[in-house]
Amino acid sequence: MAEVTRKGSLGFFNPFKSKSGSRSNSRASSVVDFKIGNDARKGSLATVTLKKTSSSGRSSRVGSARNSVDHTRASRHGSTLANDGGDEWERDAQTGERKDHTELLHSLAHRGSTEELVDRAEAMFLGIPPQPAHDFFARLPRSVWDRVMQSLSPADKASLAFSCKPFRDLLGTGVWTNLNSPENRDAKIEFLGHLDAHLPDHLLCFPCAVYHVRSQKGNEILRPTNVSNPIFECPNVFNIENRVSRHRITVGRALPFPFVQLILRAQKYSKDHGIPIDSMSRRYKDRDGEWTHQTRYVVVEGHLLVRVISSAFATPALPPAGLRRLLYSPSDNFNPFFSVCSHWRDGNLMPAIKCALSHIPKPPEGSGIAGTAAKVNYHFHRPHPIITLCSECRPMRRCPECPTEYLIELKVQEDRSDPDPRKMFKHALVITRWSDLGDGTSPKDPEWAACNGEGEYDSFSSLGRRAIAGTFESQFTVDQIPGQKMISMNPDKVKLGEKGHDWY
Ligand SMILES: [Zn+2]
Ligand SMILES: [Zn+2]
Ligand SMILES: [Zn+2]
Repeated sequence: MAEVTRKGSLGFFNPFKSKSGSRSNSRASSVVDFKIGNDARKGSLATVTLKKTSSSGRSSRVGSARNSVDHTRASRHGSTLANDGGDEWERDAQTGERKDHTELLHSLAHRGSTEELVDRAEAMFLGIPPQPAHDFFARLPRSVWDRVMQSLSPADKASLAFSCKPFRDLLGTGVWTNLNSPENRDAKIEFLGHLDAHLPDHLLCFPCAVYHVRSQKGNEILRPTNVSNPIFECPNVFNIENRVSRHRITVGRALPFPFVQLILRAQKYSKDHGIPIDSMSRRYKDRDGEWTHQTRYVVVEGHLLVRVISSAFATPALPPAGLRRLLYSPSDNFNPFFSVCSHWRDGNLMPAIKCALSHIPKPPEGSGIAGTAAKVNYHFHRPHPIITLCSECRPMRRCPECPTEYLIELKVQEDRSDPDPRKMFKHALVITRWSDLGDGTSPKDPEWAACNGEGEYDSFSSLGRRAIAGTFESQFTVDQIPGQKMISMNPDKVKLGEKGHDWY
């Protein structure tokens, strides 16, 4: 484990490995072609041929991995290499490698994201065998290391000290104990996050900032919120102030953050690290309420996406009280029965749903001859069962403040509970919600926090034209989702809540 951690942590310092670094390496391979004799290992004189043609350089780059190994070997046996000296580069006396003084500066420039830098650094190390920590450490004088240390964050210092003895001696163990102070809490979580891949039997608990042992390893099952379901022993489990982050799905159902971690770890590292994503899908009917729900999860580009399809039979021309009974759960703080993000009260989601319900055709009423005639006429000329929604309620809606999208539909569904066979097929209100729940690195992760209403997020600039619904459905089939127009659920981002948007 120490070995792996060391390599992982040294990722921060890859740019200093400039001599086998990407820039000099690629430039080297475009002008220089190294050839090592078969028995270079025995230390006999190796031959070096320098070619200044770019065509042969390209061919040498094609032999990528083997070439880079050869290249390192060449540097190792640098002292036996004959220096051609014909090129304009100043060369290192020890290794015979060209000195490019700007290389270090260029590699320090940080233009892209941190992830990009780590990816680039990893690519630079590809195929290069690890070297002893002392050798690596000795490449720069102590004063330079000291300067480097000054620029590191507390989490990076802790990771570096964890990598090998020379760095631990340089930094001291204080960099670890410092992480326990409250102001370094985020740094501690960041440091612990780097160890995730090496701890399949544990799970990082964010309220505690500790890796707890998974007490049901591999058998963690998502259960309704009223069922006690500890997946690790956590002292904060009953702490209201500081408990595990969870996202409400429907009445009595929530997704605790540890399950997000488990699904994404299984995808990122190995099956052993988590649980299979298929174990998360559910189909259930609310105990008190008429709604049935289907949940499904998928991981796309490291993000967990969820789709919840909720449906309930709806009678035509419901009065306001009937609408309320159909849509809002009195036992769950008058939240909707269907799945919503935390911004559902603002904007026009609820008015659009009420609009959709208003399109269910109303059977004729009245008594006497006129009423009977209307009923007979209705019986023989039933309105078409497929209802087209209007331009107000038909488009898909995206929450402007979190990565969530909604689709409202009216579908004809079979109601097996109705004893009257003529009335078995009814109109059902179907509301589908898609959300991006983030990459599972932390409950402060922008997507997860936004869906819970705990962070700033601009979904239209973050997602652009790429719909979560489309990304999700394309994982299964291409034609399941109608090509709907996407509009904002709250175009002016007005936050009127209960008072203004007529949601109740
Ligand atoms: Zn805990
Ligand atoms: Zn409508
Ligand atoms: Zn939202």
